[in-house]
Amino acid sequence: MSDLMDAIRRARAKAIVNLSNCPVCGARRIGGTGNPNGTEKAFFDCGSVFVTYGGEPIEPQVHCAGPSTLAAAHLNDELGAALAASKAGAA
Ligand SMILES: [Zn+2]
Repeated sequence: MSDLMDAIRRARAKAIVNLSNCPVCGARRIGGTGNPNGTEKAFFDCGSVFVTYGGEPIEPQVHCAGPSTLAAAHLNDELGAALAASKAGAA
């Protein structure tokens, strides 16, 4: 392995090791695993998992559910307000 490839592998592994929060929603890190070949995983409270396999580009192994959860909560809030308003009008 060339010095450059090794430097890239170590940089990607370190980026995963250094993640203290989900890069998508900010949920706290709840764990991680490492391997001398440069495979590193980080686990987050929202359920997401970010990984680099042996120095390959970082990818989401499990996608963050945070944005979808927030979007659904927003839709429910809007619907709840509309339903409350229609109930008030019917009373
Ligand atoms: Zn997240």
